Amino acid sequence: MKNTAKPTVLIAGGGVAGLTAALAFANKGFSVCLFDKAAEFSEVGAGLQLAPNATRLLQRLGVMEKLSPSAVTPQALLLKDGKSAKTLTSMSLDAAVHRWGAPYVVCHRADLQSALLSTCQNNPDITIRLGCEAVQFQEHTNLISLTVRHNGLDEQFDGALLLGCDGVWSKLRHPLPAPEFSGHIAWRLSVEKADLPQSFLQAINQQTAVSAWLGADRHFIAYPVKAGSAYNFVAITRGQVSDKSWDKIGDHQKLKAEYQKWHPAIRDIIALNKQWTYWPLFQMAEPHFVVSNRFVLLGDASHAVTPFAAQGAAMAIEDAFSLAEHLPLNQNFWPQALKSYNVTRLKRIQSVAKRGAFNKFAYNASGPIALARNLVFKMRSPERLLSDLDWLYAYKADQRSE
Ligand SMILES: Cc1cc2nc3c(=O)[nH]c(=O)nc-3n(C[C@H](O)[C@H](O)[C@H](O)COP(=O)(O)OP(=O)(O)OC[C@H]3O[C@@H](n4cnc5c(N)ncnc54)[C@H](O)[C@@H]3O)c2cc1C
Repeated sequence: MKNTAKPTVLIAGGGVAGLTAALAFANKGFSVCLFDKAAEFSEVGAGLQLAPNATRLLQRLGVMEKLSPSAVTPQALLLKDGKSAKTLTSMSLDAAVHRWGAPYVVCHRADLQSALLSTCQNNPDITIRLGCEAVQFQEHTNLISLTVRHNGLDEQFDGALLLGCDGVWSKLRHPLPAPEFSGHIAWRLSVEKADLPQSFLQAINQQTAVSAWLGADRHFIAYPVKAGSAYNFVAITRGQVSDKSWDKIGDHQKLKAEYQKWHPAIRDIIALNKQWTYWPLFQMAEPHFVVSNRFVLLGDASHAVTPFAAQGAAMAIEDAFSLAEHLPLNQNFWPQALKSYNVTRLKRIQSVAKRGAFNKFAYNASGPIALARNLVFKMRSPERLLSDLDWLYAYKADQRSE
């Protein structure tokens, strides 16, 4: 472990939360040792949306300049009717930087992870160990020990603080309650731009946009990734729990049946006969942040939320920044600082979860509720709809409120 004079932060998990925390803590003067059970970081996964509340923080860390070549900055957020393809509202994102202080971008998860990773690798205060599974931890008076399994052998590492960033299926979270199945499935697919059906391109007017297609009991999200060379699609339906993996292949016929009454723009994408991954969405009834004065949960391990507000990765980034901002190098101040962190994040995550629940209700509505929703979109100016998002996108997790 490098630079022993600085307090050491042990991080279990090198996903979005763990890698962001490594950078945020190293920048504050801590020494960081991060462990991930994966032998290498691979291309598993699909697209992610990063709203300005997240990209502002990534800019501060120097990660955006690495991510930008592969990310896409959409011009607009379109809400469309799934059956008619009619645009219910179109919100321009051109003024995102002016309005919220940073761009709205979409990218592949693997591109974000590698931008974070290469920034970490340039920082002498961060050590990353892959193929190391965090199995348990033990607290002592002045330190915390993490047991890590590598090639079947257990090794113990001591630090001042342990961050549990090991995702929705967190081992370190145990014995806190496990996440619950939300009843919804995210089907995911990436398609090369050259293979996209004309019906889809026409329906979005060839725009570089995030489009959300709404319908009874299901919706469909589309946006470009990989510098615009590919498109990411997410179909949200009801469904059953399968296993806990990011690369299980879904039953294509089932997906076709789910969207059989939808507009050809969507049906043609599903008809491409490609392999959709099938990811049951889990959520935690209650978030848990600070477990003790030496152990904190971050990201999905703390508060897995459904993706309806498109803020999963953004919340992991905010958690990491906010915690580093709260904790001074002097450990005597940590109990008070952690109390304040807990209150701040609880309030924020609850607000975002509420917005997600609202989006789910609005996106999947049918009958008179859908008609009322469409009327609201018609009556309300796009400017007014954007201002409804100010509290979410202009939030500054790196500034303490008290
Ligand atoms: C492989 C993968 C693909 C994903 N694809 C998408 C996607 O396409 N779209 C989307 O919206 N979200 C995706 N997600 C989830 C998304 O990244 C998270 O919801 C969000 O970014 C919060 O990040 P997180 O760091 O809390 O968790 P995650 O991003 O899930 O990261 C958790 C990390 O912890 C590691 N880990 C787990 N257990 C242990 C352990 N015991 N010891 C050490 N390391 C451990 C994992 O290998 C992983 O790197 C994916 C997650 C994973 C792991």
